Amino acid sequence: MIHKLVKPVIFTVALMMSTVITAQEASENDNPELQRVEPFQVFDNLYYVGAKWVSAWLLVSDQGLILFDALYGDLTDLAIDGIRELGFDPDDIRYVVISHAHYDHIGGARRFQEEFGAVVMMTDTDWNMTDEPAIYQDYPKPIRHLSVSDGSTLNLGRTRLRFMETPGHTPGVLSTRFTVYDNGFPHDAFLFGGVGLNFSGVERTETYINSVQRLMQLENIEVNIPNHPESGEIFERYEILQDRQDGDPHPFVDPESWDAWLEILMRNAQGKLERERAAAN
Ligand SMILES: [Zn+2]
Repeated sequence: MIHKLVKPVIFTVALMMSTVITAQEASENDNPELQRVEPFQVFDNLYYVGAKWVSAWLLVSDQGLILFDALYGDLTDLAIDGIRELGFDPDDIRYVVISHAHYDHIGGARRFQEEFGAVVMMTDTDWNMTDEPAIYQDYPKPIRHLSVSDGSTLNLGRTRLRFMETPGHTPGVLSTRFTVYDNGFPHDAFLFGGVGLNFSGVERTETYINSVQRLMQLENIEVNIPNHPESGEIFERYEILQDRQDGDPHPFVDPESWDAWLEILMRNAQGKLERERAAAN
């Protein structure tokens, strides 16, 4: 099969980097009725089982399931129900990879440990955050399972995850590179584990910039798998995917908008750095 060079769909990249969530937004975010999304397949081996405002992704291997992020509170039920609706068994979840230790990603981790025997993975630095009082919103502390460090890999059957520690948003953001398949054709996908600029300090901002620079140096990333849908136009792309005809490019395979997105993250971070420096003087 000859794979056509895909003409990328250029999306306007959302500039919103929500720094403050209002009380009303918080209650809407926490409401599973308002947050429900029908789970859907994006690639042969990747499914969306997240909510409207925060993602959870299910990666299917020949030796079990991997879940990226656990959602939180009642939203975790959306992920669990979604996995079942798609025809999978949550008992087959081998690993839950937590992108960072903020409640919206880690909050349901303990349930996956207790109810399904999944192994929870995170960086050491963000595991340490779970020893401190939660910021934003409390959650049941997961049992410290596996620590992931920069450059490490995890194989589950024929599926390989390659990890990077990309600090900034939290001190130990975990990012993951893996392969997705479109009708058997492989594409390199990347999940940047912490995008938002809702933190403060010159040093921390420099750390974030350094992380984005490392992402910019990665070669051949074709698919952005964001941990908040707005960071990668998940639902807009899925609309296009549903209408896809034979021979059409896959709307999630879009290396140009990956590059454009990183440029925007960098610009926003540079602006933040200037403000942080001005405030520090
Ligand atoms: Zn966060």
